[in-house]
Amino acid sequence: MESRTQVGIVGAGPAGLVLSHLLQREGIDCVVLEDRSREYVEKRVRAGVLEQGTVDLLTELGLADRLHREGLVHQGIELRFDGEGHRIPFEELAEGRAITIYGQQEVVKDLIAARLDAGGPLLFEVDDVSLDGIDTDEPTIRFKHEGVEKELHCDAIAGCDGFHGVCRPSVPDGVLSFNELEYPFAWLGILAEVAPSTDELIYAPHERGFALHSLRSPELSRLYVQCDPEDSLEDWPDERIWEELHVRLARDDGWTLKEGPLVEKGIAPLRSFVAQPMQYGRLYLAGDAVHIVPATGAKGLNLAVADVQVLGEALTKYLKGGDGSLLDAYSDACLRRVWRVQHFSWWMTWMLHRFPDDDGFQRGLRRAQLEYVCSSRAAAATLAENYVGLGRDW
Ligand SMILES: Cc1cc2nc3c(=O)[nH]c(=O)nc-3n(C[C@H](O)[C@H](O)[C@H](O)COP(=O)(O)OP(=O)(O)OC[C@H]3O[C@@H](n4cnc5c(N)ncnc54)[C@H](O)[C@@H]3O)c2cc1C
Repeated sequence: MESRTQVGIVGAGPAGLVLSHLLQREGIDCVVLEDRSREYVEKRVRAGVLEQGTVDLLTELGLADRLHREGLVHQGIELRFDGEGHRIPFEELAEGRAITIYGQQEVVKDLIAARLDAGGPLLFEVDDVSLDGIDTDEPTIRFKHEGVEKELHCDAIAGCDGFHGVCRPSVPDGVLSFNELEYPFAWLGILAEVAPSTDELIYAPHERGFALHSLRSPELSRLYVQCDPEDSLEDWPDERIWEELHVRLARDDGWTLKEGPLVEKGIAPLRSFVAQPMQYGRLYLAGDAVHIVPATGAKGLNLAVADVQVLGEALTKYLKGGDGSLLDAYSDACLRRVWRVQHFSWWMTWMLHRFPDDDGFQRGLRRAQLEYVCSSRAAAATLAENYVGLGRDW
């Protein structure tokens, strides 16, 4: 069965869904194809820190009512080591910009509900997605839905299907260059049904490995411990996780970590990855489909949204006015920000983790950087302005 749309969007994660709303606002037809079920994507626990720019965009699109009701606005983070906390105050250092804590699965739920309410096509559980003719002016997406083979003819395709999707591998060999860094550790993340023991995120470098106390809501705590990338969940019974968290997050002034039942537990590798350019023919890649950042900087979701903000504007100019100049410049326009965010995420990861092959020199460098950030206003401001998100000029 054949059909036509202006933009075919592969993937209903933050990138694909935000793009569909940006295009819908401009009256541009698009179809979103997702290979998982609605229930699955609405429950997938991932990021939870929204930059100011992400919140502003969702607000402008009229998609942030629940976010503003339930999200927790944070004006700082704590760096904790040697039993002491050092606050990085965004209100002083980042010109009043802040972050909002609101789970990625909640963002996804809101975007899906609004898209379906508006009658926009969004198909779940599609199979066998493949791209054809991406170097022509009528690229096609082939897929199967409810047992029927379909062909969707488009003016452009947005590849928003994450790191393991089909869009990036559809680009012919030799077009993209791949830049990658694997870290020699992973994060074991838990979601616990207990009120957070902190009002702001705590980043804790420790000789036994990094720990992070984050949160999702007044009732849900999100915590991470650095672990070996070869570890499996069997290596980490709940008691061991709490024990490590108590040790790594300890503070000398009597602060205590509250424990609660785990509702989710998983191990994620840490990786830095950029494929470039972010486009080929009439295929435009966005979000995790084309770059990955280690979670330390809390940037993955925000970078995905920043990409599609640029892409939405470029597609609008092309499809409404026939001017393809922004579309041609899409990759260059995004890569400057992508590399800035890559650097920040790598830098935070480097500064805060214990690397297994560390020698005394490396340990000394990390320590010097950490102390500098905690004692110099200029160094703290660098962390703060990157953490809350650089403006659209980047
Ligand atoms: C386990 C995990 C934990 C994370 N934790 C954090 C965190 O704590 N903090 C942080 O900042 N970032 C985190 N991230 C990163 C952040 O969640 C991502 O950067 C963000 O989801 C990127 O959005 P996206 O829309 O580009 O990709 P995704 O959210 O991956 O969305 C891609 C969508 O495409 C769909 N798809 C895939 N293949 C196909 C196909 N063939 N056809 C149709 N659809 C397809 C997928 O099911 C998915 O719904 C985490 C990522 C992972 C994987």
